[in-house]
Amino acid sequence: MSSKQRHNLIKNLTVKELSEICKSCKLSGYSKYKQKELARFVAENTNIPLKELEGMVNGFIEDRLLTKIKDSEDYFLFKNVIIEHFDEELIKAKAGEFTVTIMNLGTEEFEYYCDEKCNDYRYHVKKGRYPFCKHYMAVIAELIYQNKIDLEKTELKYISGAVLDSLLKTIEKRNKEDGILKSSDREIESTLQKLKDDFLEISKQNSQISRKKYDERPERVFENLVDEAFQLLEFDTIPRRAEFGWDLLIVGTHASPPYLNVIECKTAKNGLYDYLMHNPDYLIRLKSYCIDMCKEKLIGAYKEYVKYMTIVAPDFPKEIIMHSSKFSYMSGGLILSFLPVSTLLYLVEKYRENPILTHDLIEDLFKLPKVIEKSDIDEIFLKAEYQIEEIIFKSKEILRSSMNEFSHNTDSCFIKLDEIMLGKLIDDVLFSLEPHLIKRGIKESMGVKTISIKHDYFKIWNIVLQSLTQEFSKILEEQSLTQEKRTELKEEITKLLQL
Ligand SMILES: [Zn+2]
Repeated sequence: MSSKQRHNLIKNLTVKELSEICKSCKLSGYSKYKQKELARFVAENTNIPLKELEGMVNGFIEDRLLTKIKDSEDYFLFKNVIIEHFDEELIKAKAGEFTVTIMNLGTEEFEYYCDEKCNDYRYHVKKGRYPFCKHYMAVIAELIYQNKIDLEKTELKYISGAVLDSLLKTIEKRNKEDGILKSSDREIESTLQKLKDDFLEISKQNSQISRKKYDERPERVFENLVDEAFQLLEFDTIPRRAEFGWDLLIVGTHASPPYLNVIECKTAKNGLYDYLMHNPDYLIRLKSYCIDMCKEKLIGAYKEYVKYMTIVAPDFPKEIIMHSSKFSYMSGGLILSFLPVSTLLYLVEKYRENPILTHDLIEDLFKLPKVIEKSDIDEIFLKAEYQIEEIIFKSKEILRSSMNEFSHNTDSCFIKLDEIMLGKLIDDVLFSLEPHLIKRGIKESMGVKTISIKHDYFKIWNIVLQSLTQEFSKILEEQSLTQEKRTELKEEITKLLQL
């Protein structure tokens, strides 16, 4: 087998990739070469069978394409792609400032051009190092998202296997943000399993796991896992978009009033995050994340929602809490808490098993200017049980007293209501579920009353509604046993029979 064939195969690989081949064949003395000579050196000195070498090269290309898909998210997920023209032969689109032209998609004559501003296109795609730039990927994602391409019918060159999977995942993310798809039970299960398996290891910068399973550096994977953990607690989350600044915002939408917690994700190789102990100046930066990069950018009442900052890390030294009071002073009253990964995981697992915590109750955790412990979690679960008992007690009482008001309209067979009475009954009972399970408002344009049902609290609804229906049937039973007043029908018949 000729070294020429080998050379053809690998001549466009990067120095890093060529070095990896050298390493795997245990070649030495390659570090002195530049790309061109290195490619020749590898072609002449390696004895990897051509098929195997082809597999390696394809692996490298796949890795590059996966990065392109990740990079394309900046355009596609942030709705920054516009399809300007679309027909079978020609597609013209804009990804941000970059114009992409695609011809004969899905056919042998397929060709595409990216903007002249695109360095990637100029230096890599044109020279055949890889098949496309991130702008092309962003456009393809948008086309699939808009149902302009049917993947069953159109075969996209180079997009298959892991690359296709990754692309579809990106599109699913957008659909989810639009509320088109809801995470299924199975997805919750698999996210939970992922957290159980990898959360702690990733927080300790296990780069082997992060590279193998997630294709990214541990710091970034950690941020994503923290985001997913809070999503499993039914928080709205806003992951960071800038290179610097806060990592994640979580929004306690269901709380009254809502709140914002600025989350800082920190990995630590030895498992203990103590950077803050040695670099107290770092507090100034944290303050700036919360104040300059968040609170000051909001307006009106939203500003007041910014109340908390929480650092999530593998673990913390106990003395770290001394920084909380300093931070509170510096930031004008924000509360800084420390959440070890094991505690967050404990909270998520316990919550998924028994989703009875409201955002108000979880807020109690963020109010603790300390290292949050498992016992703090147990405590809010206890509080949640009391809270549910209270809701049940109140709503049952209101149901009963409302029903009692109708007793003058009750005979031995019926409790009789008209539309207005029924409306009042429903209104009274709903009122008893406020603010935990529903939120009331007014449509400003029309002055119509509205009710928002907090469906995330389905488990609490379930417990409360079961108690309410039991109470309702109990009231019916009591009426049935005690009411002796004749019905109208009986009255009539008695009268007609002249009894
Ligand atoms: Zn481009």
